Amino acid sequence: MKVHVDQERCQGHTLCAMIAPKSFELSEIDGHSSPVDESVPDDQREQVREAVHSCPERAISIAE
Ligand code: SF4
Repeated sequence: MKVHVDQERCQGHTLCAMIAPKSFELSEIDGHSSPVDESVPDDQREQVREAVHSCPERAISIAE
């Protein structure tokens, strides 16, 4: 599974990093989120899916 964060949409709400702290990191400059690794480890899939649904800006997309 691959994950992508749309930097145009992300508003730095931090929800994704709270839900899946191993999979998303926040920029110290603008607070925007980016994946720690585009390829999601198997044990992180559920949290990443939850982050996708929780992002208020719909900025996170996944591809199986
Ligand atoms: S929850 Fe969405 S808007 Fe908030 S930091 Fe994560 S990707 Fe960005």
